[in-house]
Amino acid sequence: MLKLGYNEATCKENSSVERDLELCEKYGYDYIELRLDMLKEYLKKHTMQELKDFFAKSHLKPFALNSIENINFCTPQEWEELVELFAFACEVAKEINNPYIIVVPTVTEGVCTKNEKEVFEDSVEVLKKLADIASPYGVKLSFEPIGDRRWCCNSVRQALEIVQAVNREEVGLTVDCINFYMHDKAADVDYIRRIPKEKLFVYHMNDCEDLPLGVLDHCHRIMPGKGAIPIDKITKAVMDAGYDGPACLELFRPQYWEMDAEDVIKMGAECTREFL
Ligand code: ZN
Repeated sequence: MLKLGYNEATCKENSSVERDLELCEKYGYDYIELRLDMLKEYLKKHTMQELKDFFAKSHLKPFALNSIENINFCTPQEWEELVELFAFACEVAKEINNPYIIVVPTVTEGVCTKNEKEVFEDSVEVLKKLADIASPYGVKLSFEPIGDRRWCCNSVRQALEIVQAVNREEVGLTVDCINFYMHDKAADVDYIRRIPKEKLFVYHMNDCEDLPLGVLDHCHRIMPGKGAIPIDKITKAVMDAGYDGPACLELFRPQYWEMDAEDVIKMGAECTREFL
């Protein structure tokens, strides 16, 4: 059985770190994925010690920080800013004993036209550089392919090849239901079973509306069990691969941002638990 996790994107417009912590603890979540932008807001009014104290006295524990985005094909200026944010994430992760940082490939306005070799070589180089930075902090990078063609790495197969070529114990993969589905409507669920246990770091759970690929987007994410994704099959494959961490509910649905965060987090626990 998997643990219950919550990713702060789910209520990012109608909640805060303070409120997410309180509500996730109240509704029995085991883990939380904090967002770096929300964490920066939190640290304007609170100290890192307060955050550490919360986790010390709570059942809820930190799991992954979200996220370092657009890691590929950076200009020197973009790289400098990325490294600054990444170093902040590493420091926070070490302080609060948070094991993973989610890293995401680069997105373009239209369909990404970089070829697979270019994406592979750049990703391997960048992930190695980030692993070098992360290593002294004892934190790991979970690379997450984003299923839509606008992102340069958009399949689990492509991401796994990259992660295996990086060949560092600090670098592994995130499997996310909608990102897996958005690639080819989850045509090859079995492929997930090929991920070595030690390379499967994070599992994001979500469902989505039944829309054609190319139309379907992250705003169409919906509570597990209410959409078109074969979550039960994907979850089974993730568990068969040896994963036993949390399934973290991660939604970006504007309608949920208009609701009271407590209602969303409560419903999220109920819907996600069905699939653990
Ligand atoms: Zn995700």
